[in-house]
Amino acid sequence: MDTLWLSHSLFLKSENMAEDLNPFEIAQKQLDNAAEVMKLDKEAHAILREPMRILEVNIPVRMRDGSTKVFKGFRVLYNNARGPGKGGIRFHPKETLDTVKALSAWMTWKVSLANVPFGGAKGGIICDTKQLNDYELEQLSRGYVRAIADAVGPDKDIPAPDVYTTPQIMAWMMDEYSNIVRHDSFGMITGKPLEVWGSEGRGDSTAMGGMFVMREAAKMLGIDLKKATIAVQGFGNAGMFAYTLSKKLFGSKVVAISDSQGAIYDPNGLDLAKLEAAKKETGSVQGYEGGQKLTNEQLLELDVDVLIPAAIENQVRGDNADRIKAKLLLELANGPVTPDADGILQEKGVMDLPDFLVNSGGVIGSYFEWVQNIGGYYWSADEVYQKLDKIITKSFNDIMALKKKYESGGTKIAPRTAAYIIAVDRVAKAMKARGWY
Ligand code: GLU
Repeated sequence: MDTLWLSHSLFLKSENMAEDLNPFEIAQKQLDNAAEVMKLDKEAHAILREPMRILEVNIPVRMRDGSTKVFKGFRVLYNNARGPGKGGIRFHPKETLDTVKALSAWMTWKVSLANVPFGGAKGGIICDTKQLNDYELEQLSRGYVRAIADAVGPDKDIPAPDVYTTPQIMAWMMDEYSNIVRHDSFGMITGKPLEVWGSEGRGDSTAMGGMFVMREAAKMLGIDLKKATIAVQGFGNAGMFAYTLSKKLFGSKVVAISDSQGAIYDPNGLDLAKLEAAKKETGSVQGYEGGQKLTNEQLLELDVDVLIPAAIENQVRGDNADRIKAKLLLELANGPVTPDADGILQEKGVMDLPDFLVNSGGVIGSYFEWVQNIGGYYWSADEVYQKLDKIITKSFNDIMALKKKYESGGTKIAPRTAAYIIAVDRVAKAMKARGWY
């Protein structure tokens, strides 16, 4: 085990495992780790450890029954040295400022690694969308935009969908903002429906980007994707498209998939029509006819070529990482692998590709939407996918090249650390050029 991994896992053990840390502390520790390896300037490091601006708003919403409820929301601009803030808005009952801060830091590294002209931002509202009707959801979305209107805009900070926010919500927010500024402002938000100038290809761009990364990694590892077996955790937007695209683009065999209730496994490969029928009739993929039921935990430990966690955070941890058998782990969800699992996977020889590379197709698709809105000239889905392929494949190659460079100097680093170094270095250089330190 090299010294870097040793120090990395030690700090986590000494602080009682990553699960006990709050997400923003994890984000700061990840940055500290990269800063140490890359010998980041101390002043640049100090700027990059904290968000530049935090907005907390309280939004009164007149509910359908005539009562008024107050919802708390946040918008955090982490860093804008390389361009306006970019990042989604989450509607979540357990949203916290620290989660939004962490996600805004991760957005900063995501857009920097992709080398698109944005900084990082994130937003959130503490709410349970399942308890709101459409009218209340619309009022809340519009109220949030009124509350943060001074801070957002096509050249200030551009929101997008995330957990429990949809293209429809983006359309309401765009409309409200356009009313405030007294002109149409399609480029103030991305992930919109096509009718109000969303982009072709944005709907599945997160999974599509993940597929391009899988293709490149498989080449490097000598995995023949036509014969490969894949397990996907999650049947949401990312997981469902990861399933269909792996089959469509490469002819791979997806042998297991899961939802919140559990997993289904068939060594001969799962059939989409049967999966959809199971979901429709029983509410879960576990109703699949003829497959073997597994838990989400067991799915992660299957003997497959590629494992794609595409659901929630903290799935591969210090306590189960040594049971992962896949050769390639693609983090399509945000934060599915905890920092204390990193070193274990590295020692086992699992190629674990970080979330802010693997799922960057989403924000790259958003970048294209913003460019099209600003330019008023629209592209076909094929053009979008080709441009996405070029950007994300370059990110993958940049990571592998830097990893190799460090290795030839005697320091073994994980793809995540290499990705951090590239992303942080670009932001630090922009801050330097602007005279911030
Ligand atoms: N919410 C997505 C992410 O976490 C997309 C953000 C965006 O398109 O701005 O990457």
